[in-house]
Amino acid sequence: MTTQTPALAVTKADNPFETVTLQRRDLRDDDIRIDIKFAGICHSDIHTVRQEWGEIQFPITPGHEIAGVVAETASGVTKFKVGDRVGVGCMVDSCGECEMCKNGQEQFCTKPAVFTYNSDNYDGERAQGGYSQQIVVTERFACRIPDGIELDEAAPLLCAGITTYAPLKRWGAGQGRRVGVVGVGGLGHLGVKIAAAMGAEVYGISRTMDKAQDSEKLGATAHLATNDESVFEKYAGTFDVILNTVSADLPMTSYLGLLKPFGALVNVGLPNDDYEVPPRSLIGQSKSLSGSMIGGIAETQEMLDFCAEHGIGATIEVIDAKDIDTAWDKVVAGDVRYRYVIDTATIGA
Ligand code: NAP
Ligand code: ZN
Repeated sequence: MTTQTPALAVTKADNPFETVTLQRRDLRDDDIRIDIKFAGICHSDIHTVRQEWGEIQFPITPGHEIAGVVAETASGVTKFKVGDRVGVGCMVDSCGECEMCKNGQEQFCTKPAVFTYNSDNYDGERAQGGYSQQIVVTERFACRIPDGIELDEAAPLLCAGITTYAPLKRWGAGQGRRVGVVGVGGLGHLGVKIAAAMGAEVYGISRTMDKAQDSEKLGATAHLATNDESVFEKYAGTFDVILNTVSADLPMTSYLGLLKPFGALVNVGLPNDDYEVPPRSLIGQSKSLSGSMIGGIAETQEMLDFCAEHGIGATIEVIDAKDIDTAWDKVVAGDVRYRYVIDTATIGA
């Protein structure tokens, strides 16, 4: 049965949010219908809808940090049953057959993958995201939320969690390694928690010292503020890994200077502008400059299990749907500790 669900949408560029009704598709054989309880607000939602990454189609319902409960399963579903706690992140489908899909890196599916919003499903239907009360998705793109994590604190893990977990693991954050997390925001605060749980010595690296106490509560050994430019000299050659989560441009060369020889700087923050990197700043001490995009479904499940095992959820502020426009402005102003999560029961209330 087609589901009608209340949702928040921006119907025209530069407009505020409105409450709309979305049609979710009839369940296919491998589909589940999820009652969405909470949806996190990721800075990527804002970059996309404000067209900072290029023109998009309206109307759009963003949201790719989805946590809820299975409400219905189709006959071919084997992974889930009604009542299970599940999450959906940035993708809702992929071909399942290309090399990347077979390697569990569905985000790089060559077909390509269907993203949770601002993307077309393979049947041509427009994908609409999680700022809504229900979503229909193939069971392959849902992850199990372990009992140890509250649903509201789990929602941001589906994007911010996996986006920080995957590169931290890939670049060897762990015992005996010093990790700097640049930008202590939605992604960054989880980067600090996860890197600390992996056993690394972690530094929060912010613009100011405002978040210094929080940083240490999140698991950092110390907090650095880059508005004091002397930190770049004082901490030159300090880090094995730097995870840059900043949503704006940064002087890459200065941050590369903070790495030890063989160190790696991984960018996950995605502003639209280019940056300049003199080859000498990498070659001089065999450093790596890298990027990372979310993570595959199996790794997202692994991250959720890791977070449950280490008692990690996002640090959140739950908001009502009516406060969405203000919350977005506050994210842009850096005024959130550390992720806004929409209580979807308040949509249309
Ligand atoms: P966020 O909550 O707004 O956090 C960004 C942080 O960057 C802020 O808390 C702030 O940290 C710092 N910052 C903001 N403006 C800055 C400026 N002008 N100069 C220096 N630092 C600044 O955003 P988010 O949701 O964590 O997302 C961060 C970025 O990652 C976005 O660009 C987003 O699109 C991207 N992203 C990428 C992926 C991926 O797969 N690669 C996935 C999700 C998101 P301090 O206050 O500590 O300085
Ligand atoms: Zn995101």
